[in-house]
Amino acid sequence: MPFSVQSVQHSRRASVDFNNLPFGRVFSDHMLVADFDGRQWTNVGIKPYAPLSLDPSTAVIHYGQSIFEGLKAYRSVDDAILLFRHAENYKRMNNSAMRMSMPEIPRDVFMDGMEQLIRLDSAWVPQGEGNSLYIRPIYFATDPVIGVHPSEQYTFLILTCPSGAYYSHDLKVRIEKTYSRASRSGTGYAKAAGNYAGALYPTQLAKAAGYDQVIWTDAATNTKVEESGTMNLMFVIDGVLVTPSLSASKLAGITRDSVIEIARYWDMPVEERDVYVSEVVEALRNGKLTEAFGTGTAANIATISVIAEEGVDYVVPAVDASSFSTRASRFLNDLKSGKTEDPFGWITRL
Ligand SMILES: *Cc1c(COP(=O)(O)O)cnc(C)c1O
Repeated sequence: MPFSVQSVQHSRRASVDFNNLPFGRVFSDHMLVADFDGRQWTNVGIKPYAPLSLDPSTAVIHYGQSIFEGLKAYRSVDDAILLFRHAENYKRMNNSAMRMSMPEIPRDVFMDGMEQLIRLDSAWVPQGEGNSLYIRPIYFATDPVIGVHPSEQYTFLILTCPSGAYYSHDLKVRIEKTYSRASRSGTGYAKAAGNYAGALYPTQLAKAAGYDQVIWTDAATNTKVEESGTMNLMFVIDGVLVTPSLSASKLAGITRDSVIEIARYWDMPVEERDVYVSEVVEALRNGKLTEAFGTGTAANIATISVIAEEGVDYVVPAVDASSFSTRASRFLNDLKSGKTEDPFGWITRL
């Protein structure tokens, strides 16, 4: 497939304050672009980051046929650039594409395209502990036609933004039983734009009530916990890592999978199964629940300190250096920054 590279004349990098990077607002010089014209992939290559020109009838704006991914590139302690399990993002994006009736993205467009883009903008991968280059692949329908049907034409892009360390304070979360994010036969397992739009309102209500996030429950019975916001959800109960098993209503997080692998590597028992609201509350009451946390690319691991259910705030015990989530978080950070040997084969050095 022909691949064109059009570089910027003048880099914007010097105008960016790398000591003070807001998340998702500063974009690197270039982006990857690829179009599907209804029959084949065309215009594949790298271009200067710039606004798009879209017809007002463009399908994605009307019917939301749009998916995305999120991952990071890290600068290692020896100044190399490391990618973490990006082939998993490639697989997941094509799973999302299939659910949204979108054509499969070729491997060389996603994988080689991403690697070339990051090499070209390598000066944008920030140094320093916890800093990273956030990578955002997006894929959307571009037929300039009104009418509900799968688009014939699509655009695939990869944007990148340098981002500072993600310091999450401990989260107060509320178990949500009125609104659902996804149903067992719906689109929750796809990283599809509409799933996130639908989650905004219930999240806003939780924030107005003093919480940071919701814990989603299953749409059919509201008795089982599923995810927390846009993170997968994990608990340590009686020394066992307990997490809801994957299903069509849950996004299969790569951080989730990695944390499970790390637990097994450390001989910690893991249970992937239905997790009931009632047992979480019971374990909070009797002190058997010692850790609760969300997992996702942005935070790696975000500690949950309060879980609210039926108007009662339950406090999760504070973590310390020996807690599983603290150790797993450190291990993941050390893997991603090349400080520790990678026993899993998860790291690609560019
Ligand atoms: C992206 C996402 C996650 C986390 O996935 P990672 O691959 O670990 O970043 C979890 N839940 C939802 C709903 C998500 O969109």
